[in-house]
Amino acid sequence: MTEASQRVAVVTGAARGIGAGTARRLAADGHAVAVLDLKDGDCAATVDAITEAGGQAFAVGADVSDPDQVQAAVDKVAEALGPIAVLVNNAGVIRDNMLFKMTVDDWDTVLGVHLRGAFLMSKACQKYMVDQRFGRIVNLSSSSALGNRGQVNYSAAKAGMQGFTKTLAIELGQFGITANAVAPGFIATDMTAATAARIGIGFEDFQKAAAQNIPVRRVGQPEDVAHVISFLVSDGAGFVSGQVIYVAGGPLS
Ligand code: NAP
Repeated sequence: MTEASQRVAVVTGAARGIGAGTARRLAADGHAVAVLDLKDGDCAATVDAITEAGGQAFAVGADVSDPDQVQAAVDKVAEALGPIAVLVNNAGVIRDNMLFKMTVDDWDTVLGVHLRGAFLMSKACQKYMVDQRFGRIVNLSSSSALGNRGQVNYSAAKAGMQGFTKTLAIELGQFGITANAVAPGFIATDMTAATAARIGIGFEDFQKAAAQNIPVRRVGQPEDVAHVISFLVSDGAGFVSGQVIYVAGGPLS
């Protein structure tokens, strides 16, 4: 990697799971990475892993659905690391339930973190990207965007992320900024472990059952998603924009 492609990247929800894997990967690629999660203390493990491997990381706490916290966090990152060039909108929550049992709070929380969060973070970061005439935004969608029982809130949010991404690509392309979405299938993280616990199945058995329905016969790992994000934020991916890439071990319909 050349010196010119070392950038300042922000990864939201990076205390664990896919966000932590992505932050570690982008740091290994040479980027200075802001590890953002609800509380800066929660980011310590990710930051330590990056710095121990010789990379540069900065912990920052913010609720991505809160406009004031987002602005304060983005200001802090720019002051600590420099102008932001890469944003990965990864923070996420699930509040699964069948429609007839889903509360308004379950709906608002999920839409708030995923869609409002991605909107607020992208709005705050794009100014630095426009100034640099370079930017990379990657949004986490999901295979659930295609519909998933018990996830009317999450499916709506993840389908919304795809439309959001395409519109960012159209509006920001003229400034050298690309926007793409990755849509993972089953990835082994605390989120899928929580789903297994909620339906009363051991996580190992849950993964084995899921793997049987995946063409490559295994569930995904955070590194599988991080690898695709690493490509999408690279300098060489500048002609790829407004795309949704499913990272699911096979095609989805
Ligand atoms: P995870 O292990 O639950 O990690 C999500 C992270 O986001 C947590 O550290 C969480 O913090 C943080 N977060 C939640 N709300 C936040 C907020 N308001 N502001 C800032 N940070 C917040 O989840 P994951 O499995 O890695 O998922 C990462 C992304 O991939 C999500 O967008 C998810 O929807 C998407 N995805 C996951 C899968 C999968 O199979 N795992 C599949 C498709 C898409 P707390 O721990 O404090 O809540």
